[in-house]
Amino acid sequence: MDNSLVDVQCKYEQRFSCPICFEPSLKIIYGICQHRICDKCLYTASGELRKCMTRCPTCQREHVFPEEKPDIPEDNIEMMKALGIRQCPNKGCGVSVWYWELEKHTESHARRKSNRSSPKVQADRKPQGLSSTHYMRVTRSAQLRTTRSKRLSLH
Ligand SMILES: [Zn+2]
Ligand SMILES: [Zn+2]
Ligand SMILES: [Zn+2]
Repeated sequence: MDNSLVDVQCKYEQRFSCPICFEPSLKIIYGICQHRICDKCLYTASGELRKCMTRCPTCQREHVFPEEKPDIPEDNIEMMKALGIRQCPNKGCGVSVWYWELEKHTESHARRKSNRSSPKVQADRKPQGLSSTHYMRVTRSAQLRTTRSKRLSLH
């Protein structure tokens, strides 16, 4: 790849990714101090400002971010898209990535999907469910066998 292009991409990643999680995000919130952090780092799932974020982590100024998660203007989201940030098209993923990393990211989904169909990974994914039903089946047949043999020995 062209080195100068990689340079530009690295600068973009450093400059515009969230300084906390180092991930790109379409939903970046600007503080009064003009420092910006992604909504996931700033707010809890219920939309409250995280305790550790009452101070700006970059400049240590207090109360620069709103207590409640604000609506992010469409314009801001479009701006981040123009910079090269894309939302992963996979349903339920919700991850934002630089477009030059999108291919790699979606490939990881494809890999995970193909892994899911292989029996070994399935066992890894659901170790308890699988092993306990298996265990139950084994013990039940063992119990049947013992009761049957007991019955046999009684007669
Ligand atoms: Zn973040
Ligand atoms: Zn700041
Ligand atoms: Zn994804």
